[in-house]
Amino acid sequence: KRVADRYLKREVLGEGTYGIVFKAIDTKTGQTVAIKKIRLGKYKEGVNFTALREIKLLKELKDPNIIELIDAFPHKGNLHLVFEFMESDLEAVIRDRNIVLSPADVKSYLQMTLKGLAYCHKKWVVHRDMKPNNLLIASDGQLKLADFGLARIFGSPDRKFTHQGSSDIDQLGKIFAAFGTPKPSQWPDMVFLPDYVEYQYVPAPPLRTLFPMASDDALDLLSKMFTYDPKARITVQQALEHRYFSSVPAPTKPSLLPRPP
Ligand code: ADP
Repeated sequence: KRVADRYLKREVLGEGTYGIVFKAIDTKTGQTVAIKKIRLGKYKEGVNFTALREIKLLKELKDPNIIELIDAFPHKGNLHLVFEFMESDLEAVIRDRNIVLSPADVKSYLQMTLKGLAYCHKKWVVHRDMKPNNLLIASDGQLKLADFGLARIFGSPDRKFTHQGSSDIDQLGKIFAAFGTPKPSQWPDMVFLPDYVEYQYVPAPPLRTLFPMASDDALDLLSKMFTYDPKARITVQQALEHRYFSSVPAPTKPSLLPRPP
């Protein structure tokens, strides 16, 4: 079956936050693509206008470490976003018990992640949903950031339904358990956050206990990236210039990275 006269529909790949994702062939280029069908539902008209303008901006983002948005069009009341098809994602790599990542492999994945992010920040686009299953892996081993700006355009369902509710607070609890509760002395602007409430003090365990195998360089970079105060946190450009990336071992070449079968 053809969609918009150009795409030959194949199997369903999965169901995401905003709707079904299916595989398709782009008859114009012969390329395999993934089409995300977004239900416009109740705000059909409203979303169309702002969303399509925002999506135009996303189409302009082109970088080896960002998934390309090839096309976007409304079809039968749904918005269709056409992306390059990707073989796997970082979550699958991490979960695969047969895959052991060497320090050089980890360095390569982190470097590609930061390169993609640096490109976006340079274009004043923020991702807002960085997580391993949004870091897709192409057949040549390149890691590419996905789901760019969608959270901002379509809203994140989690947030809407759980304002001050279980999952936000639950997530905060996990962050505090890992990094300790932030002190106002570390993050002076914290007390001005919209929903700021005092939280029971949780001490920070040494970062080393969370990452027992990381090198000292790696740990230094992580501590700078995990800084609570965004004004004190390392920028993505500075992170790429950190000595972790220039010290041995050199990052593994993408084509040589271990991948799920
Ligand atoms: P979520 O919103 O939960 O992050 P997505 O809508 O991004 O989920 O994706 C749903 C499923 O579709 C994923 O599990 C993934 O397997 C598949 N998928 C998404 N994008 C691509 C892509 N570019 N190439 C191949 N598969 C994809």
